[in-house]
Amino acid sequence: APILEVREASLRYKNGHVVWQGLNVSVQPGEWVAILGPNGAGKSTFLKLVGGLIEPTKGQVQVKGKTLSRYRTPELYDTVGFVFQNPEHQFIADTVFEEVAFGGKVAGWAQERIEQESVQLLTDFRLLDLRDKNPFTLSQGQKRRLSVAGMLLKRQEVLLLDEPTFGQDAATTAELLQRMQERNEAGTTILMATHDVELVAEYATRVLVIGEGKLLYDGRPHALFQQP
Ligand code: ADP
Ligand code: ADP
Repeated sequence: APILEVREASLRYKNGHVVWQGLNVSVQPGEWVAILGPNGAGKSTFLKLVGGLIEPTKGQVQVKGKTLSRYRTPELYDTVGFVFQNPEHQFIADTVFEEVAFGGKVAGWAQERIEQESVQLLTDFRLLDLRDKNPFTLSQGQKRRLSVAGMLLKRQEVLLLDEPTFGQDAATTAELLQRMQERNEAGTTILMATHDVELVAEYATRVLVIGEGKLLYDGRPHALFQQP
């Protein structure tokens, strides 16, 4: 059964702007779906829709067979992780360490496990030296890495990432994707909006291209890049 299902979804913002109409997408567990499309095509909006942050104007979204209602419920939070395009919108803690550790605290993990897993992720993402800093004082690239680290700690089944590699150098991008690939190989479903076509070809198992208010392509990455 699909883990995510978007059925005949249309989205019109309050100001009347129609992003897309009659979108149908079904995602199986373990897929790594890259979402491509020009600026303003609706990639962020699509992730917000499947993450339960906005509601479709028409149609519906299901996660694990349950139709999402307007608000992000604790149950949805346990299943679906989200990294925003502007990660500072989701920061809640006073220090980098607390920000990563937060999901473990909420889940009631033992202090030792929280410390161990948080330090591991901070090390992986080269943030350990910054552990006592306020998240808002970090650079954009560091903020994005912190946001991904906090999401990975929670081990949700579905990860939604909006341009997670934006502004990162090549080595850091590779590191981020390596960590995500490990999760994907362990069965985690990933949906990632990106401009980086090379990454898509290397990591994604499937590509969605959004544009002109609809789905322009849905298939394997290599078929998209093979020009006749
Ligand atoms: P992308 O991620 O592909 O760049 P977005 O999903 O951010 O595209 O935006 C899709 C379109 O919807 C854009 O034209 C954007 O300006 C518009 N948009 C995004 N958020 C809102 C909003 N809250 N209200 C009105 N229009 C919006
Ligand atoms: P985020 O990645 O957290 O959505 P953004 O900077 O993309 O951050 O958007 C910040 C807020 O502004 C969001 O609530 C988004 O829906 C809204 N927004 C984005 N684009 C538009 C737009 N063209 N018109 C109106 N609101 C918008």
